Amino acid sequence: MHGATTMTDTYRNYIDGEWCDSVSGRLFDNINPADTRETVSRHAASDARDAAAAVAAAAAAFPAWRKTPIGKRAKILNDAATYLEANADAFAAELTREEGKALNLARDEIVRSAQTLRFYAVEGQTYTGETFPNDDPDMVVYTQREPLGVVTVISPWNFPVSIPARKIAPALIAGNTVVFKPSSDAPLSGLRLAEAFVKAGIPRGVLNFLTGSAGEVGETIVASPAVRAVSFTGSTSAGEQIHRAVSMTTRTQMELGGKNPLIVMEDADLDQAVDLAVKGGLSLSGQACTGTSRIIVMAAVKQAFTEKLVARVKALKIGSGLQTGMDLGPLATRKQRETVLGYIEIGKQEATLLQGGTALTEGDFAHGFYVAPTIFTDVTMSMRIAREEIFGPVLAIIEASSYADAMAKANDTEYGLSAAIATRNARYAHDFANDIESGTVKINRTTTGNLVNAPFGGLKRSSTATFRESGRAGLEFYTQVKTVYRGC
Ligand code: NAP
Repeated sequence: MHGATTMTDTYRNYIDGEWCDSVSGRLFDNINPADTRETVSRHAASDARDAAAAVAAAAAAFPAWRKTPIGKRAKILNDAATYLEANADAFAAELTREEGKALNLARDEIVRSAQTLRFYAVEGQTYTGETFPNDDPDMVVYTQREPLGVVTVISPWNFPVSIPARKIAPALIAGNTVVFKPSSDAPLSGLRLAEAFVKAGIPRGVLNFLTGSAGEVGETIVASPAVRAVSFTGSTSAGEQIHRAVSMTTRTQMELGGKNPLIVMEDADLDQAVDLAVKGGLSLSGQACTGTSRIIVMAAVKQAFTEKLVARVKALKIGSGLQTGMDLGPLATRKQRETVLGYIEIGKQEATLLQGGTALTEGDFAHGFYVAPTIFTDVTMSMRIAREEIFGPVLAIIEASSYADAMAKANDTEYGLSAAIATRNARYAHDFANDIESGTVKINRTTTGNLVNAPFGGLKRSSTATFRESGRAGLEFYTQVKTVYRGC
C-alpha cells in the first residue's frame, strides 16, 4: 500500500499497518521554500487521537517484534535501504522541493540514509553483553541487552531523511517499536522513509508514522506512559521542553542547537580556511546544526583572511536547489527567514556589516525565502550575533590575540556541538582537541559532516548529557542491560 491516496499530492499517516487519514480529516500544506506558489504536498493534520492510536499500535506490536529473529529485522532494514536507493532521484527532487537544499545534497542524503540502514542491519547483530569471571564454577554471570519498548522519534526539517534514519534504524534492529513524527516543514521526505520500511514488509504496528503540528500531537507521543524513550533533534528550547515533560522512566536523547566556531590560526593555509568557512557556514544556507557561525581569527591574518572570504562569498551563486551549480538555496521556512533577517538587523546595530545583509526579493527570488550570504566583522563575544543560534547564512568574524584568547572565545558559549581549527601547527591541533568544549572536534575540516559509524552528539546545551547518536553508540540508547547469574 502506498502513502498517496490519489494522483494528487495528498498523503496519509501510517498507523497500525494501514495508511489512514487523521481522525479529524484535516490536512495541511507543504510549501516549496524556493517558490511559495507551489504546494509540494498535503498531509494529514493529526491530533492527540491519532497520536494515541500510534502509541497504542506500537505498544501492541512490541512483544512480537522483540522476539522476531534479528536476521529478519536486519532484512527489513536492508530491503528498506534498497527501496531508498532505487528511488533516490525521485525522493531527492521531493526533498529539494520541500526543504530547499541543492539536489545533489538531497540525493547524498537519501543514499547516506540507506547506508545508515545497512550499517545498523550489521552492527545491530554484533552488539552484545559481557561475561564476568566469578568464584562459582557452576555459575555464569553475563549481561544481556534488551529493547526498551515504544520509542518516539521526532525530527527537524534540515535533514528530514538522514536524521530520522539514524534514530529509527538502531531502534528497530534492537527490537523496539517506533512512533515517528517528522517536521511539519518537511513531512514528505519523512513519509518516504516510513514508506521504505512499509515496502520492506515491516509488520503491523512496528513503525507508526504521523504528521501534524507539535502542538497537537507532541504531548501524547512524548509523555504517554507506554513511551519508554524519546529521540529528538531540533531546537534547544523544544528539546528542553520535552525533557521536562517526560517521566523519570523515559529515556531521552536530545540533539539540539549550536554556535559552532572555526578558529583560524596565524599559520593556517588561508585558502583552505576560507573554504572551511564557506562550506561549513554557508552550505545548506547556514541551516546545519553543526554549521560554522563564528569565525575566530588571529589578528595577524584577520585582514588577509577577511579579504579572501569576502571575495569568495561575493562569487557564490544563489538560486533554487533544482538548478545545477547553485551554492546557496532559500531558507527552509518563512519563519526561519524572519528569524535570520531579525538577527541581521541586530548585527547591523552591534557590529560592522561587510557583505550581504538583505533579503533577496527581485526576479527569480521573488517567491522564495532567500537571504544574501552575510558577513559581519568586529564582532565581540558580548554581542547577540556571537551568542545566539541564527541558523542562516550569517558569519561573524571575531578577532583573537593568541591561542589562549581564541580558545576562551570559542568556549564562551552555552553550546558545544561542533568546533574546528585551521592550522598547520601540530601543537595547536593537539591542544585544541583537548581544550575545546565540543562533542565534535574538527582539525582542518568543516564543522559540518559526521560519519554514520562514529558517535555524534554535543556538550553543554547542545545535547542531553545522556546517550550519543550514530555508530555503535547509537545502539546503547535503544537497549537496556540485565545482569544474569545463571547457576545449574
Ligand atoms: P524545532 O522547531 O525544535 O522542531 C523540531 C521537531 O520537533 C519538529 O518535528 C517539531 O514539530 C517538533 N517539536 C517542536 N516542539 C515540540 C514539542 N514540544 N513536543 C514534541 N515535538 C516538538 O526545530 P526545527 O526548526 O525543525 O530545526 C532547527 C533546529 O534543530 C535548530 O535549532 C538546529 O540547531 C537543530 N538541529 C540540531 C541537530 C543536532 O543534531 N544537534 C541537527 C539538526 C537540527 P513541528 O514541525 O510540527 O513544529
